[in-house]
Amino acid sequence: MYLPRIDETKCTSCGECVDVCPAEVLEATDGTTAVAQPADCLGCESCVSVCPEEAISVEEI
Ligand code: SF4
Ligand code: SF4
Repeated sequence: MYLPRIDETKCTSCGECVDVCPAEVLEATDGTTAVAQPADCLGCESCVSVCPEEAISVEEI
């Protein structure tokens, strides 16, 4: 299993990670971006690659 985490002190809620995620793990609501469905994460790290703020990390657990 994988656990994506968003550092809220770095995230600007640009939404790029939400758009790129193939498993709809991430969700943008009310101006914040959250890890809504962590159990669905595939560990592809596309979100890590696309984030301009280096705000996402993905850990294998
Ligand atoms: S790509 Fe990075 S800065 Fe943009 S919403 Fe996702 S975590 Fe936040
Ligand atoms: S690692 Fe891949 S599946 Fe997991 S949240 Fe990031 S983009 Fe989505």
